Amino acid sequence: MTVALDSSRAAYERARLSIGGGVGSGLRAAMQPHPLFVRAARGAHVWDLDGDRYVDYVMAWGPMVLGHSDPRIIEAVAEVLPRMQVVGTGHEMEHRAAEAVLAAVPHGERLLWSNTGTEAVQVALRLARAGTGRRRVLKFAKSYHGWHDTVYAAMDEASDSAGSAVDERAMSASRGQSPSVLDDLVVARFNDVAQVERILGEAVERDLAAVLVDPIMSNAGVEVPSPEFLATLRSMCDRHGVVLIFDEVIAGFRIARGGAAERFGVRPDLSVFGKAMAGGFTQSAVVGRADLIDQVTSGVTHAGTFNANPIALAAVEATMGALAEPGLYAALEAISATFHDRIGGILDAAPDGGSLRRIGSLLQYVPGSGATGLHGTGGRWGEILAGMLRRGHQFMPSGKVFLSTAHTSSDIESTALALEQLLGAPN
Ligand code: PLP
Repeated sequence: MTVALDSSRAAYERARLSIGGGVGSGLRAAMQPHPLFVRAARGAHVWDLDGDRYVDYVMAWGPMVLGHSDPRIIEAVAEVLPRMQVVGTGHEMEHRAAEAVLAAVPHGERLLWSNTGTEAVQVALRLARAGTGRRRVLKFAKSYHGWHDTVYAAMDEASDSAGSAVDERAMSASRGQSPSVLDDLVVARFNDVAQVERILGEAVERDLAAVLVDPIMSNAGVEVPSPEFLATLRSMCDRHGVVLIFDEVIAGFRIARGGAAERFGVRPDLSVFGKAMAGGFTQSAVVGRADLIDQVTSGVTHAGTFNANPIALAAVEATMGALAEPGLYAALEAISATFHDRIGGILDAAPDGGSLRRIGSLLQYVPGSGATGLHGTGGRWGEILAGMLRRGHQFMPSGKVFLSTAHTSSDIESTALALEQLLGAPN
């Protein structure tokens, strides 16, 4: 079965006349052959403007760990929606949702609400700078921490200058960025224990306030951190007074209910959560040490008109409740392993088909040859992306694959059959 995509193409052409780039977020323009325009989304499926159904492995770029339109979340939101929208003062959803998140996260003493992952990363960095009186941040080459000038740097292989012992400078990743903030970053290689030992050993001289690390490199190939790597970050940060921040905007509540700290046994000082926490609503949080977070009462500004939106927080509370169900993570692991074995097996067997990496319900396509990474639509994956969309299966341009508790083995089997057909007769 193939779908025509006519209405999506027409909608995209129309949208380009009113919206810069024709999409709500620039990176979505990389979808092949063009972005799908969706009218409805439920469970593991989305329906386009023609009414054609797709098995969805995009899952809104991560948030929908329970699948689209989970009835528990819709019900919780529907209860709040007619009562209030934003109120600009206290309401009980704020602390109810906070208590639910803190109960799940091993190092969760306190939190602050923000809207997006990008914003919450900025809050975490400000807390770290205020707490240490230092300026600079150690990040890892190719890791994405939002689009803000202060962290959207050193994103590409070509700008990974960390290969040299003397050159750990960040290169900007977008035209129009302020070059003056790039000196606030020091760039290192993920999983390079010797390099982080050396850099963090010079933390005082280098004015290092924080290490900002996505513990599974969600947007840069999906990598398992070596046990020594995270343990070294923890011990070196302790020894040299640096704040360890885990960016768990993708990993959080997806690889384990307690996030990376539960999964890998290393507790950061602060974690940033977003995406999966709110079941499709706009919400993020900085979670961690009370003494750092309580600086908001002593001169550290944390603001935002839409912070702690009651509707989004109803979704957070409902999501945290759903994620606490016994057996949920085992089921998510099992369906993700099924996808990995079945689809990865087909790719492995195809000439130059590539392969799959997996940590929990997050997978990454690794090409036999060609590009990967945040903008990696080239090579074999670009063909697979477009060919599978025409066959009714939606994937991410970057080659990431998001599974959810709503995916079934029959969804995966239908994807497997379509992929076998595509790789047998690409078009
Ligand atoms: N950090 C990570 C690891 C992310 O994957 C993202 C978004 O994809 C962000 C931060 C930024 O989050 P947002 O898109 O909500 O601003």
